[in-house]
Amino acid sequence: MLTCNSSQKTTVPSSIRDMPVAKNIILLIGDGMGISQISAGLYANKNSLNLERFKIVGFHKSYASNNLIPDSASGATAFACGIKTYTGAIGVGPDSVAVESILEEAESRNKATGLIATSSIVHATPASFIAHQVNRAMYEAIAADFVKTDIDYFVGGGLKYFERRVLDDRDLSVEFRKKGYTISNFLVEEFSDIDVFGIKKLGYYTADNQPLSAEAGRNYLIPSLQKGIQFLKLRSKEGFFLMAEGSQIDWGGHANNSDFLVTEMIEFDKAIGIALSFAERNKETLVIVTADHECGGYSINQGSKMGKIVGAFTTVNHTADLIPVFAFGPGAEQFSGIYENTEIYHKMRNAFGFD
Ligand code: MG
Ligand code: ZN
Repeated sequence: MLTCNSSQKTTVPSSIRDMPVAKNIILLIGDGMGISQISAGLYANKNSLNLERFKIVGFHKSYASNNLIPDSASGATAFACGIKTYTGAIGVGPDSVAVESILEEAESRNKATGLIATSSIVHATPASFIAHQVNRAMYEAIAADFVKTDIDYFVGGGLKYFERRVLDDRDLSVEFRKKGYTISNFLVEEFSDIDVFGIKKLGYYTADNQPLSAEAGRNYLIPSLQKGIQFLKLRSKEGFFLMAEGSQIDWGGHANNSDFLVTEMIEFDKAIGIALSFAERNKETLVIVTADHECGGYSINQGSKMGKIVGAFTTVNHTADLIPVFAFGPGAEQFSGIYENTEIYHKMRNAFGFD
């Protein structure tokens, strides 16, 4: 596995070398969350979002190596591994060679690590931080990659890819338990009933495949983020890396459903508030909020008013819009300006003080 793609690595200005080190990073990805999605969430939510609490805002260029229109795999691999790669690539470069992710680097430096998604946990966004596969649809292979790591905390859908596999007859939950994990799922107990104190590592499946929408009753993003932060903080004195995804903002875009998109956006913003409030108290935590790409070519049209958005779409697919990046905490100042999506990886490494 390549440890870093030096041809795409940027030089670090001395002002950044001197900046305070972030012990913890919380990366929050709103899948498909462009400027219009944020705007719609803002106006639908009585002109107020936690995103407004950020003072440092920039933009990234979301395109993939093979297509100006990115997908979640190329987008998340850019953040996770610092490489521009092709659509569908999970933690591999354009040559299909695996590249170490920021989560794996954090793990090798004894930081605690976690992934949360409101999609399946083997879906492209979380997968790109922990797996290395040539195609995002290889869900069972991606699930098997989870077991190769020492991730401390993961919460998301996709039970069947771990426990009822077609590829082989392994039960990955059994393998996790042998490694000391507490593994549970939505059929056994509510996420809110899980007591994370006193357990070593946690994996919790929130659905057999894809979780419900927030509108249909999915409600674990906020508690899994709250518990995850506390769990990971206690787990290692070296700090932690946690990625949490509002996965379904994107699905509202694909469905050309403005109300779906807006409810997912507002829920994701509540998660942002949780992370920010922790970082404000903790003072050693960098919080970054961004999206992999825009979805739907969404706009807020005539007839919209405060509290009620009339949205329109130009496509059921993704677009190549510039994507906003919000940052708070040690190293946040690096995130102003306009830069490639791969720079988010390098800026996170700089903030962690990795050389
Ligand atoms: Mg996603
Ligand atoms: Zn999408």
